[in-house]
Amino acid sequence: MSPPVRISEIGLYLRCPRLVYFQNLGSIAAAEDAGRILLRALMQSLSFAPSSEISEMDLYSLLYDSLSRLEQELPLVYKIDAAELRSACQDLTQEIQGISQHLVENLDLLLPCEVDVDLWSEKLGLSGRLDRLAWGAVPSIIRTGKAPEEGVWKKDRIMLSGYALILGEKENRHIDAGMVEYARAGLVRRIEIHGIDRARVLRIRDRVRQIKDGRLPDRPESAPCQGCLASEICQTRHSLASKFF
Ligand code: SF4
Repeated sequence: MSPPVRISEIGLYLRCPRLVYFQNLGSIAAAEDAGRILLRALMQSLSFAPSSEISEMDLYSLLYDSLSRLEQELPLVYKIDAAELRSACQDLTQEIQGISQHLVENLDLLLPCEVDVDLWSEKLGLSGRLDRLAWGAVPSIIRTGKAPEEGVWKKDRIMLSGYALILGEKENRHIDAGMVEYARAGLVRRIEIHGIDRARVLRIRDRVRQIKDGRLPDRPESAPCQGCLASEICQTRHSLASKFF
């Protein structure tokens, strides 16, 4: 039996199917970005429900203290450059006031929760590590990039549907809602999970399997090639294919 497709591979496929191929070949290594790791860890430092209502100022202090602690702890956990992490901490210190201002309104959606929850389904052939599982079995993913004006990005919606699928199989029911945390803006967007996206996840899972079996996908017209880690090898594969066919 083939190993389960990870939800992160579904995300990679949605960015560009060829990236799945090159990652599977071991031709690209995901770079550890200190700023992203720090921001995700900062959000995950919020996991216990507060005993009383929390103010924006309390949240600011909580995040500020976590930031100092993470600056010491993260280099022991991840291979990240200490100077890069220090600079990311300084940048984030300027941002936590804005983050607290928005996040305080949605904190009750997130807490209490478990973080970094490993999910796996043999039946679905899917696995993944969920950023947060909030009270009531609501899956939540943390994003460190820009938030859309409204709702969530398509890639986030489909990845969330993937986690909801695995979770639903474990709980023996449909998980109908999930959340995306756009951490830098302190926004929490709660969305419905639709059957069509669950079905998309399964279709993409099958394509990822084919790619991992060695099928090089076409280069999509809208692929985000600028600055892509695989651009050199991707161009070579493209040229070889054009030469022979
Ligand atoms: S260079 Fe473009 S087509 Fe090739 S893997 Fe990267 S994003 Fe995809």
